[in-house]
Amino acid sequence: MSFQLTILGTGSATPVLTRNPTAHYLHIEQDGYLIDCGEGTQNQLLRYKLRSTRLKYIFITHLHGDHYFGLIGLISTLNMHRRTDDLWIFGPKGLAEIITIQLKYSDAWLNFKVHFIETETEKTYQLFENECVTVTTIPLVHRVPCCGFLIKEKRGKRKLRKEVLPADLSIDEIKSLKEGYDILDENGQLKYSNATLTKPEVEPKSYAFCSDTLFHEPIIEIVRGVDLLYHEATFLKDLTARATQTCHSTAAQAAEIAERAKVKKLVIGHYSSRYKDLEPFLLEAKKIFENTILSTEGLTLDI
Ligand SMILES: [Zn+2]
Ligand SMILES: [Zn+2]
Repeated sequence: MSFQLTILGTGSATPVLTRNPTAHYLHIEQDGYLIDCGEGTQNQLLRYKLRSTRLKYIFITHLHGDHYFGLIGLISTLNMHRRTDDLWIFGPKGLAEIITIQLKYSDAWLNFKVHFIETETEKTYQLFENECVTVTTIPLVHRVPCCGFLIKEKRGKRKLRKEVLPADLSIDEIKSLKEGYDILDENGQLKYSNATLTKPEVEPKSYAFCSDTLFHEPIIEIVRGVDLLYHEATFLKDLTARATQTCHSTAAQAAEIAERAKVKKLVIGHYSSRYKDLEPFLLEAKKIFENTILSTEGLTLDI
């Protein structure tokens, strides 16, 4: 299964020319999932050639502007592109009201249906599932209600054992094998058993998104062992007091969460506009959790 992340924005509160506000785009199978939608996200989708026609699900962590001010613009553009497919938007209380009122006073009538689903930010629970993934909330501690999201593949497909694969299989039969089915002949009798032609399924992949938040230990259990953890790192360690005061984290704190949760990889972002050079973030985090990378605009990672 394809499970790919493209980072569209790495900045925080106030603009920096080289950094857009937060937005992460996930491409899972045929669908696009957007987590947060800071101002300018639609330009970033264009810049990195991510087709907004694929976009089906939008998850908003909280109602600070750097995480959703791009939403009304994106919705308007989808409408101007004559979208007719439904769109699902998950976010905290107030989001549906804000978007609805913006549409009302711009006299915009959508050609497509928007399903607003309100998140409960205080507890962890399964928010959503489709045939590919489940999405679970991650309660975060911030100045307004806020939750992150854990996106998990349901199960990987079976892998074909090419060395024993018969040459006469049709494309449909190969597809069935990958989905875990046996191949039957026209009389309904077993022709090829799935167990002999495929290998055990690939481990389901998982991605956790945690922004914005104070250093918050309960996150650790929820994100334990994920393939990729994104955790905000707004400040460096010398400004821990400032981080605490504003309900944000430092690079060292993000790395501590990753280390204690034994995740496979950590990507940090949401850098304060006061920092020009980001290298110190990487050095600070790597001292605690070696497999850390910096998020940068347009960075694409296979999960
Ligand atoms: Zn923020
Ligand atoms: Zn915030």
